Amino acid sequence: MEGKKSKEKEVKKGPKLAVCPVTKKCGSCAYQGVPYNEQVKKKKKEVAKLLKPYCEVKGILGMENPYEYRNKVHAVFARLKNGTIISGTYEANSHRVVAVDSCMIENQKADAIIRSVRELAKSFKIKIYDEDTGYGLLRHVLVRVGHHSGQIMVVLVLSNPVMPGKNNFVKALLKLHPEITTIVVNVNDKKTSMVLGDKEKPIYGKGYIEDTLCGLTFRISPKSFYQINTEQTEVLYKKAIKLADLKGKERVLDAYCGIGTIGMAAAKHAKEVIGVELNPDAVKDARANAKINGVKNIQFYQNDAGKFMVQMAAQEGKGAIDVVFMDPPRAGSDEAFMSSVVKLAPKKVVYVSCNPETLARDLAYFKKNGYEAKEAWAVDMFPFTSHVETVCLLSRKAQ
Ligand code: SAH
Repeated sequence: MEGKKSKEKEVKKGPKLAVCPVTKKCGSCAYQGVPYNEQVKKKKKEVAKLLKPYCEVKGILGMENPYEYRNKVHAVFARLKNGTIISGTYEANSHRVVAVDSCMIENQKADAIIRSVRELAKSFKIKIYDEDTGYGLLRHVLVRVGHHSGQIMVVLVLSNPVMPGKNNFVKALLKLHPEITTIVVNVNDKKTSMVLGDKEKPIYGKGYIEDTLCGLTFRISPKSFYQINTEQTEVLYKKAIKLADLKGKERVLDAYCGIGTIGMAAAKHAKEVIGVELNPDAVKDARANAKINGVKNIQFYQNDAGKFMVQMAAQEGKGAIDVVFMDPPRAGSDEAFMSSVVKLAPKKVVYVSCNPETLARDLAYFKKNGYEAKEAWAVDMFPFTSHVETVCLLSRKAQ
């Protein structure tokens, strides 16, 4: 009732939206209460300012419905002094847990499953892990939902591989949520801020989910990277592939390729695609994905992208690659990688970035070394948060 009242008050006050009750403590949504059209305007302006020395930002591609887009939901579990079990997120810059029941940017089924795990943990008397003492079993729950497929993976992150009452727990969870397609136990026995540990074992189903993206099927394992906003990922990839303007004859490199999504979407427009990715689980998924989709002109290598490119530049040299797609993590790329791109001299580089600051830094390097940024587009992959994705086309200057 109270929530409803305050919401009405907000609406009357003006265009401000209802604000999430834990937004201050959680800190993920910098744009809580800001109308969506203003959010995208601000993000476009921010990217345009950073990229101004290099190229024009043609626009920002936003969402029609900017809610419940997160297909991956992570909840950390904690036990309060009075014995209440809570699940949610870490307070900004701390290890205190903020209780979150439901979040407006997360998939609602995933949130409901996390609430059920919390209830079952109580009835099954599962000890909640205590970060200070290292005692207790249940640390985190991760839920991944296939946006198109509806398949759901639940990862229980435990401090110990032995879970008393495991079979009954699984049965009870499936009874509440028959839509779950796989449950995995991941063992994290270290005092670390990393969520997932090394060891994992499916206790129900295949241990991964599949989803479709740009008409292709992708298998996604617990530790593989997969873009968290599926609808906008399709928008992003379509733009990236359009900017590359492939004619079917090109040898294409997909660097930092994850489970091979961009490369596989590009493969039907190219002669050959080579993918490189550091995470072995993601490479395994990528190879399986090529098979599932019958894509024969793609090959994946597990390596550091920089090291791989240095080798390729030394062995194959100028002209070996026609187009490079690169999609590095937030830290951006490195000189080993970019200097090798310069040596291989592809005609085009399509840079996909989740951090416009490191993108701007890397564009400065490319500019100094014979590449001109032609155009960029911002894509709002993360409504309500301060994050923004950018795709930028670079072209090799005639020499
Ligand atoms: N293009 C993919 C993944 C992008 S995320 C997609 O759109 O889904 C960035 C990826 O870079 C992650 O999969 C991460 O594992 C990988 N990565 C991080 N550092 C790397 C490095 N040094 N060399 C190669 N890959 C790296």
